[in-house]
Amino acid sequence: MDYQKILDEIYDEIQPELKRGKVADYIPALAEVEKGQFAMSLTLEDGSVYSVGESKKRFSIQSISKVYTFVLALDIYSKKLYRRVGIEPSGNPFNSLVQLEYENGIPRNPFINAGAIAITDALISHYEDEYKTLEVIMNFIREISNNKELSFDQRVAHSEMEHGDRNLALARLMKSFGNFENDVQGTVMTYFKHCAITMNTEELSRSMLFLAFGGKDPISKREFIDRSKAKRINAVMLTCGHYDASGEFAFFVGLPAKSGVGGGIAAIVPGEMSIAVWSPALNKYGNSHAGTLALEKFTTKTGLSIF
Ligand code: GLN
Repeated sequence: MDYQKILDEIYDEIQPELKRGKVADYIPALAEVEKGQFAMSLTLEDGSVYSVGESKKRFSIQSISKVYTFVLALDIYSKKLYRRVGIEPSGNPFNSLVQLEYENGIPRNPFINAGAIAITDALISHYEDEYKTLEVIMNFIREISNNKELSFDQRVAHSEMEHGDRNLALARLMKSFGNFENDVQGTVMTYFKHCAITMNTEELSRSMLFLAFGGKDPISKREFIDRSKAKRINAVMLTCGHYDASGEFAFFVGLPAKSGVGGGIAAIVPGEMSIAVWSPALNKYGNSHAGTLALEKFTTKTGLSIF
């Protein structure tokens, strides 16, 4: 298949959509990002990369980082992790408090904010220190990406903390139900820091390749998680990766994927490739408007989908 031609076509077709939607403005540092930008990259099994648009420009990966922390926590805790966080789609916005109250402080899944904060908390309990935990997360991302330069943006993390009341409230609510073990402020700050990791689409697609190949990176041949756990992570990406638009995303795109409010989406085609797309303007669910459409075009043009 001529992937470059397909990406070039998508790039042309997507232009009228780039200004539609709204950049995330509840994190002031993200509100400054200009609309109208677009990038898309694919990484194949043999390491070949195809890109279009601003694929060297780094952006805030935000909730896509929840995939990495889920991988780490599932590897450490196995089934015990599910005592603290579920695996069902929430059908609610990513930062919703109501469901958490009804369901006794157990977040529906690892990809809504409450679930990801609970996972960060579980990692801090395991590593016994927030800074050590952040270092483990960063080192893991550098290893799966084979890129020692990856880092996070302190300014974005602090900007988010200045307006972090809702996430702090989610953490406190979990604590009131006994589903929280560490210092709330420090844990939420660690969560904000991993959300503030910056990557470009080439780096992001490279980082997800191991999940397209049963947990084993086909380039370095390193197994980062066993096949059965990789299957579960991909399943949760499919059912929960786009919050209350996960059904719609599966319907139109048909791939396990995770979005972030920075406008990025990472998707995998099992046994074939990993894909990353970025366009900062979001739809009403907080997922990249043009990014979602670009992935829909990609699976339609190539016929590559899990269905
Ligand atoms: N850091 C963001 C938040 O907590 C992540 C949300 C997202 O990307 N959907 O609100």
